[in-house]
Amino acid sequence: MLNFSSTLIHRPSVMLSACDSTDMAARAAEGLASTALRNVLQRVQQAAERASRQASQVRVVAVSKTKPVVLLQEVYDAGHRHFGENYVQEIIEKAPQMPKDVQWHFIGHLQSNKAKALLAGVPNLYMVEGVDSPKVANHLEKAVAGLERNPLKVLVQVNTSGEESKSGVEPSECVELARHVKLECPHLEFSGLMTIGNADYTSTPENFKTLASCRDQICKELQISPEQCELSMGMSGDFELAIEMGSTNVRIGSTIFGARSYPVKT
Ligand SMILES: *Cc1c(COP(=O)(O)O)cnc(C)c1O
Repeated sequence: MLNFSSTLIHRPSVMLSACDSTDMAARAAEGLASTALRNVLQRVQQAAERASRQASQVRVVAVSKTKPVVLLQEVYDAGHRHFGENYVQEIIEKAPQMPKDVQWHFIGHLQSNKAKALLAGVPNLYMVEGVDSPKVANHLEKAVAGLERNPLKVLVQVNTSGEESKSGVEPSECVELARHVKLECPHLEFSGLMTIGNADYTSTPENFKTLASCRDQICKELQISPEQCELSMGMSGDFELAIEMGSTNVRIGSTIFGARSYPVKT
């Protein structure tokens, strides 16, 4: 009995200190992410204007990998809806903690054996940016077909650097993979192309030009209009240039959420 009551007395204080540290993290970051978001949106607007484009033609994906849900919520509360993650386990943990109208993007390489878990764990998955083989496409196709949901938008990931890298098809292979998605995967919606740039996650104008020329080939060969083939290119360090060169989807992490404390897997 005595033991029992002392457990009861102690438990609240343990819980309080756990809450305290979460609160402190939230307070420390308060306002920073939403201010950074506003700043990014302004820079997007200006880059679009320089290229005589509409800012509404450029989607900003807030890349929240490694960041706590309190920060995502802050950016959500500022009106933002598109969020990007690149670890299956992490997106599956975060999605249920965020409002249902978040439009989630899975970005980067997806292991085909995780497609089913991704689709099951994130009913509001909006887009997969990073289909880099027919095998991944087929696994996604099967996973979506087994669910009651609308077709899943996918972007084909292209390796535009020529560097040895696991993810992304060679530019010369982009038409074939796009054709596979379009013709063989009825539950997927081919929506365009994505590139990371170089292996160190920087990009050059050549990377962006290569992606744009992949789009030209695909539009010609598959007889689709450029509006049906998005270009996801541009990250924190280079999104303005990417927008000036035609990007329709920029993926911005550290500029919104602050530096990540552990590095990105490539
Ligand atoms: C992490 C990541 C980003 C965001 O990178 P930042 O430089 O922090 O903006 C964009 N795209 C992919 C595929 C990523 O993994």
